[in-house]
Amino acid sequence: MTVRVRLAPSPTGTLHLGTARTALFNWLFAKKEGGTFLLRIEDTDIERSKEEYIKNIFDGLKWLGINWDESPTIQSERVNEHKKIIRTLLDKGFAYRCYVSEAELDEMREAQKRNGLAPKYDNRHRNLTPEQESEFIKVGREPVIRFKISDQKLISWNDLIRGEMNWSGKDLGGDMVIARRAPANSIGDPLYNLVVVADDSAMKISHVIRGEDHLANTAKQILLYEALGLSIPVFAHTPLILNSEGKKLSKRDGVTSISEFKKMGYTSEAMANYMTLLGWSAPEGINERFKISEISEIFSFKKVNKASAKFDWDKLNWLNSQVIHEMPAETLLENLNPMFKENGWHLPSKEWGINLISLIGPSMVLINDGVDQAKPFFEEPALSDDGRKQLKVKEAAEILNFILEKLGNSDASKFSKDEALDLINQATKNCEVKKGLVMKSLRAALFGTLNGPDLIQSWVLLSRFSKDRARISRFI
Ligand code: GLU
Repeated sequence: MTVRVRLAPSPTGTLHLGTARTALFNWLFAKKEGGTFLLRIEDTDIERSKEEYIKNIFDGLKWLGINWDESPTIQSERVNEHKKIIRTLLDKGFAYRCYVSEAELDEMREAQKRNGLAPKYDNRHRNLTPEQESEFIKVGREPVIRFKISDQKLISWNDLIRGEMNWSGKDLGGDMVIARRAPANSIGDPLYNLVVVADDSAMKISHVIRGEDHLANTAKQILLYEALGLSIPVFAHTPLILNSEGKKLSKRDGVTSISEFKKMGYTSEAMANYMTLLGWSAPEGINERFKISEISEIFSFKKVNKASAKFDWDKLNWLNSQVIHEMPAETLLENLNPMFKENGWHLPSKEWGINLISLIGPSMVLINDGVDQAKPFFEEPALSDDGRKQLKVKEAAEILNFILEKLGNSDASKFSKDEALDLINQATKNCEVKKGLVMKSLRAALFGTLNGPDLIQSWVLLSRFSKDRARISRFI
């Protein structure tokens, strides 16, 4: 079978983590099977769909390394095809016009609620006579179009992830609306389940891979495929992504869109790696730190869990730090330098920048950490509590004075690690203190705090701007 899969995002918001994960599973499967991965923009909700969201979705997918084949299908451009299919269903008696008003529907649901029943349309207009229809039209009622769903119908499919699935027609909410209200001589806006079947069929989609929140839709869509005599694709329903409390990940969890993760300093490689692990388990012998191109050679739905996947920030952070630590300093600098420039920070030389990155890179988890950690090299840092305390130690001023005098008017641009170490040793001897005290006092004066990367290397970098002297002189 030629594999053709698709991602069908609605551009009513930015690219959501769940949609991106669905995209990834589609893409991995297509690559593994030598198939085609397509995009369809489901923009039929004209009011909520926005051009900027389409751009955000395209950008997010490209950033993650998920490329699509062929140009995207735009659902709204196919509305005439959708209406043609609805007409066929009406002509063949699979669908009918239903004139029940919203107030009557509310009343029906209220009664069901009172009797402890699940809300369900009771199919009351399924068999209207032409006379009854004309009566409704005469009084100005506009109908929806409903597709008949028999309570007795059993629907089964073999899901690539969930195995054999069975649904009963009686659990699908009654006859399904496939077109919105419109005058009786026309066809209103076609609705989701109908257009998805029409488009998946026109795009010759072989496998529909999407979130398990679409299970009931799949049952309904299979009924439409059958009524229209179209071949039914294979289905795979991916597990939901839950937050740390076990609830469906939603906007309330803060970050859910791919562009936000990017803004926070996550790398595309770690994101793609982590999202693959949200539901898919690496087979034995495969490390959890991988590139998606490697996984595309071995991906299979057999290793996708049925159980929901819990979002684990620690794991994502670990993967991100791995990616950052594996990055050549030059690449990391290329990522960070635009952010440095935005802050008005300019590298004295590329070599200096690479040395800075080599110094701070190993403790970075997020790309943006590089900005925080580089800051004290460009801007005078505020004194933290521990720094202030250290500088109040009685020998601190003497130590700093000694170092400053020794530095004298020497050429700051030539200051080396050996000289720095030698100065620290001299100060230790001269002031008759422990070396640790010298190091701590110096660090506090230079960087405002007692924590940070290697002091000698940091000092040498800072001296390149002669900033060390100015900072030390504040405390003597
Ligand atoms: N537009 C739907 C969504 O974003 C597509 C679902 C499907 O893949 O059929 O949920």
